Amino acid sequence: MNDILPDQTPVWQFLENRVKQVLGSYGYAEIRMPIVEQTDLFKRSIGEVTDIVEKEMYTFEDRNGDSLTLRPEGTASCVRACEEHGLTFNQVQRLWYMGPMFRHERPQKGRYRQFHQIGVETFGMQGPDIDAELIVMTARLWEQLGVDKSVTLHLNTLGSAQARARFRDDLVAYLSEHRDQLDSDSLRRLDTNPLRILDSKEPSTQDLLDSAPHFHDYIDDESREHFDRLKALLDQAGIGYEVNARLVRGLDYYGKTVFEWITDELGSQGTVCAGGRYDGLVEQLGGRATPAVGFAMGVERLILLLETLDAVPAEVHRQVDVYAMAMGDGAFDEMFGRVEALRQATGLRIQLHCGGGSFKSQMKKADRSGALVALILGEDELAQGVISVKQLRLSSEQKQVSLESLPQELLEIFKENQE
Ligand code: ATP
Ligand code: MG
Repeated sequence: MNDILPDQTPVWQFLENRVKQVLGSYGYAEIRMPIVEQTDLFKRSIGEVTDIVEKEMYTFEDRNGDSLTLRPEGTASCVRACEEHGLTFNQVQRLWYMGPMFRHERPQKGRYRQFHQIGVETFGMQGPDIDAELIVMTARLWEQLGVDKSVTLHLNTLGSAQARARFRDDLVAYLSEHRDQLDSDSLRRLDTNPLRILDSKEPSTQDLLDSAPHFHDYIDDESREHFDRLKALLDQAGIGYEVNARLVRGLDYYGKTVFEWITDELGSQGTVCAGGRYDGLVEQLGGRATPAVGFAMGVERLILLLETLDAVPAEVHRQVDVYAMAMGDGAFDEMFGRVEALRQATGLRIQLHCGGGSFKSQMKKADRSGALVALILGEDELAQGVISVKQLRLSSEQKQVSLESLPQELLEIFKENQE
């Protein structure tokens, strides 16, 4: 579990702001759920024999003896919240949330025990149009973040539950004949969650799968049409994709469309966004049958990607525009009131030097603050009713400005710097 330190938070805010702006432009609304839920909610939704429920959840008993779990993902909570408040009955929802998730995994680059997801869930739309909208929206986001050249879209359809069941039976029959060639994880999954074997990274298992029954031979007509229409909409939008018949996703609730955005830049933790359709989940959790599709992005992985690609604009790290310093008590008292008015008049981010000290030491702090401009008020300036304005970055120009024209003067400097 990581601390996110002040030199990192600007990057997080940059990412969060871009995401909010893009999601807002498609008409999605934010929902905020609690961080803990009844353990049973995750068992029933994610599935008893998934990695998450089998070995990754932070589960504890509270003082009433209820079993609670720190949420490992957001979809189950979001469905629970929507049902509890009647948000899916006879209406359509386009929702997003952002926040920490908890999984007891082996920590490594791009894999943590508290990590953050930005999730999107939609309810009440059964066609491939909304699947396409979600994917187009993520593509727009990659563009806005400057990572679009480094991610590829992997796409698959999981068909109907019946199609999956028929495929599962044949797959298990085939793999059972070749038990001796399966790695230990896959062998365990053969009895519990055989579709996950398609995910296996073991070369010998992958070889074995080359001659196994092929998933797409089992897909039902309705799912196939849904998938074809989705692909046509993506083609129309100019979004490239790779159909990957072995993309199955680790959670039980998916059917029909599944997708992942994957990057080669981060080593083995390369999935930055993953999602799919889960038409059965709302009913499975006790609501009315409601079609649903969504995705979740891993914020830490996106930030790693932004940093690897050097895609964070330099000004994101600048937290202060102006550093105000005063020499002597009289000057400080004057400056103290002045900066307050100046913040209001200009909207600039102005840091006031506190704690006194020599001109030299204050200047050092001004420089380290990242500000573009220093305001200097000494006894001389105070006597003359002016203030010294010193540029710290693009030039080292310094001039004296009357107190009245200071707001205008500052705004002009910042306008020039932006151009
Ligand atoms: P993986 O195969 O990498 O374990 P997953 O299938 O468990 O991923 P999802 O449950 O689909 O992942 O979560 C969506 C996204 O959240 C992932 O694609 C990834 O970007 C991010 N994510 C998942 N688990 C972690 C983690 N432990 N640390 C950081 N990010 C994570
Ligand atoms: Mg996982």
